[in-house]
Amino acid sequence: MTKINENFLKLPKNYLFAEIGNRVEAYKKSNTKADILKLGIGDVTRPLPKSVVKEMQMACEEMLDINKFKGYGPYEGYEFLRKAISDDYAKRNTKVEINEIFVNDGAKADTANILELFNNNTKIAVCDPVYPVYVDSNALAGRTGEFNSSTGKWSKVVYMPCTKENNFNPELPKEKADLIYLCFPNNPTGSMISKKDLQKWVDYANENGCIILYDAAYEAYITENLPHSIYECNGAKTCAIEFKSFSKDAGFTGIRSGYTVIPNELKVEGHQLNQLWLRRQSTKYNGASYIIQRGAFARFSEEGRKEVKEIISYYQQNAKVIFNGLKDAGLEVYGAVNSPYIWLKTPNNMSSWEFFDFLLDKANVVGTPGSGFGPSGEGYFRLTSFGTKETTEKAVERIKKLI
Ligand code: PLP
Repeated sequence: MTKINENFLKLPKNYLFAEIGNRVEAYKKSNTKADILKLGIGDVTRPLPKSVVKEMQMACEEMLDINKFKGYGPYEGYEFLRKAISDDYAKRNTKVEINEIFVNDGAKADTANILELFNNNTKIAVCDPVYPVYVDSNALAGRTGEFNSSTGKWSKVVYMPCTKENNFNPELPKEKADLIYLCFPNNPTGSMISKKDLQKWVDYANENGCIILYDAAYEAYITENLPHSIYECNGAKTCAIEFKSFSKDAGFTGIRSGYTVIPNELKVEGHQLNQLWLRRQSTKYNGASYIIQRGAFARFSEEGRKEVKEIISYYQQNAKVIFNGLKDAGLEVYGAVNSPYIWLKTPNNMSSWEFFDFLLDKANVVGTPGSGFGPSGEGYFRLTSFGTKETTEKAVERIKKLI
């Protein structure tokens, strides 16, 4: 008889943002007039850059032309986009070769699927709190052991607490792990890492035979003199894979594009990981859409860069409004400077979900409970700056009146 993959049954019933969506829908049903302001899920509100849309329109037109029509594309992505990405690294004095870049349809799937490169006994270390995809994808693969609902932890996962005491930057793991997930600027805490501290991780990984999975999805939000890529550190090419997304800088959450870098020098047991990944992709993935890749290409044009800058400064302004507004109201707030996320301590020792209900009910504002990202997120709450200016200002005013 067919049997289910039991790992599914070990996961919480809903993915965090699906759970929030359900709760908001239930609230709306019994409060039909509520004017709900959503600062929960990290989805963008600015429209796509014009240059991106124009380029996609041209690519669509090509599809009508027998000489230009495109069918299946390369598994790794078209060279024109991979070259634009490689040149973008070069502009920041970082060397990433075209053949180290794998274009995808957004970073989420690759951050989850990459674990297929590693043996089933691979041990993972994650920041706590953490972007839930890293842990849930390992749980689905049966690599996380048993979930303890009273501690909120999986038995086989190494948790690296990120607290205000360590400035929301993890310390090197006390217990050895094979794969270390790092994300800077961090989702959810909005923290950033210095080059010196990132170098410590790279050195540690090289000395201990670990691989760092470095998620740079929010790299474009860095405003201070801090590393945009792990490859700015010496030796990162032998120990790190980097993920990047166009979702939050060029508004690609709906049209989908990003990329993964797997350096040529990165080997495990003598096997070149980017060759194995190519084998994996050619088996399970038929490449990202040509039209979308053309759109992503335009993101790197002069006009595209200008438009992306404008989008980012719009959200950065929102982040300031939230950060300053809540700080003035007496709340303890973090993040926002190099990040679109604001991480705040819940007032009056409320639990994260208590504060979620309180804010939804009393201010009709939706945020994300910190405990949804891991046990160290309990007592914290995440707001995003991806709303419109008007929604953001209105939400801050409502929260200020409540506190
Ligand atoms: N990595 C992090 C840390 C994220 O927060 C997100 C999306 O919210 C992603 C990756 C996925 O981005 P994409 O839209 O490219 O799949």
